[in-house]
Amino acid sequence: MNRECYGKLIFELSRKGRGGYRLPSNGCTPSVDELPEVLLRRTAPELPEVDEPTVVRHYNNMSTNNFGVDTGFYPLGSCTMKYNPKINEEMAADETIASLHPYQPSATVQGVLELYYTLQQTLSEIGGMSEFTLNTYAGAHGELTGLMVIRAYHAGRGDDRRVKVIVPDSAHGTNPASAAVAGLKVVEVKSREDGTVDVEDLRPLLDDTVAAVMMTNPNTLGIFERNIPEIASLVHEAGALLYYDGANLNPLVGVARPGDMGFDVMHINLHKTFSTPHGGGGPGAGPVGVRKGLEHLLPNPRVVKKDDGTFDISYSDCSLGQVTGTLGNFAVAVRALSYILSLGCDGLDMVGRLATLNANYVKESLRDAYLLPVDGVCKHEFVFDGLIDKSGGVTTLNVAKRLLDHGYHAPTIYFPLLFHESLMIEPTETESKETLDDFIRVMHDIAREAAESPDVVKSAPHNTPVGHPDDTNAALHPVVTYKELIDNVQQ
Ligand SMILES: *Cc1c(COP(=O)(O)O)cnc(C)c1O
Repeated sequence: MNRECYGKLIFELSRKGRGGYRLPSNGCTPSVDELPEVLLRRTAPELPEVDEPTVVRHYNNMSTNNFGVDTGFYPLGSCTMKYNPKINEEMAADETIASLHPYQPSATVQGVLELYYTLQQTLSEIGGMSEFTLNTYAGAHGELTGLMVIRAYHAGRGDDRRVKVIVPDSAHGTNPASAAVAGLKVVEVKSREDGTVDVEDLRPLLDDTVAAVMMTNPNTLGIFERNIPEIASLVHEAGALLYYDGANLNPLVGVARPGDMGFDVMHINLHKTFSTPHGGGGPGAGPVGVRKGLEHLLPNPRVVKKDDGTFDISYSDCSLGQVTGTLGNFAVAVRALSYILSLGCDGLDMVGRLATLNANYVKESLRDAYLLPVDGVCKHEFVFDGLIDKSGGVTTLNVAKRLLDHGYHAPTIYFPLLFHESLMIEPTETESKETLDDFIRVMHDIAREAAESPDVVKSAPHNTPVGHPDDTNAALHPVVTYKELIDNVQQ
């Protein structure tokens, strides 16, 4: 770590007259007199003046202050932080692909459209759906689009009374948010102690004002909802549609298909299940799949295969309209297809199985030290309710911070809200037994430390670039600009 640079902005490293660039003269820079007066700056831009080594060290140091799946194990429950194979990046960075223009004539991009079409077809096969659109930028955007399909379906039947969406209380926060953005009213259905939805609780909520029921399977606790076929028939009898939040599709890949379970509309998080570096807000894609009879409602434009075997971009009048400018995050689609094709059918068949095996291995290895509120086989993830021995006063937050000292990303904490000390672990299928064993050893060490010298755990992390920030103070008095921070320090 370069001490002088650490924690500083590039602007603070600036010294008048320093420079680190050499530009060739291009011979056509317009002279100031040629530019309209209104476009001219009054003052020169405040650009940092820095020498080359300072720039290189600054950005390299900054990159190592962050944590990524390429630097260590990242068991962040619900986020599916699997390793992203480098072949995906090579494909997405291919010059032909990277230099495409979204409005190029179809005849000049046949290969690209074929790639698009192949992914649409492959996802339909994986999800057991009739058709998919790739035109969405995230899981939440997929939920919104899926709910718009459902609204368009009811509107198309002349049924305008269906204004409610039923969402389990264990659902991801994006579910009720998407429903609200889609203009629908959220009705919560309570889950049982194991986080699953009770059919008897759902039954009285189903009437002719319900547009859809949103389900996540396996649910947020990593538990497989066994009653889906029964729930599906109840929902359909009530005239509503069943929506599948496919952000948790990972354990089902190669094992089971939402379409076969009775779901009508679903989204898949390509950035999670089919590996795109995510976190920090993107880029992502949440393709939406629909069962037979709903295809015409999918957003414009669509990639279609014509009778002569060529591909085209088509717009339909029946569609609900556009949810993106063009065809979505193409580079994410490239990575997803690259992941799928490089695994092949045999490899894909192992994704769900290995994700499930890894999660159960970690869960069973740690249940002697961490409280397991829901017993039984989990799918790709599981939730502990903190340490079994809480006598030292060590919380889930402390355990998560102590893990940082050992070079691990923290698991998801205090979510789901069903337990007070939720610690949610998702190892994914891409981790080796050695990595999992090492993580298990460290988790045991922390549990021992929590009993023997709890203060060490409570004051963690001890060896990260940023130590133990005051979370409460930060939440109560957020400092949101750098200037404010400097002013605070100077006061
Ligand atoms: C991640 C996740 C989402 C939201 O996906 P984004 O791409 O972050 O919008 C929705 N539901 C579940 C269960 C998730 O894990």
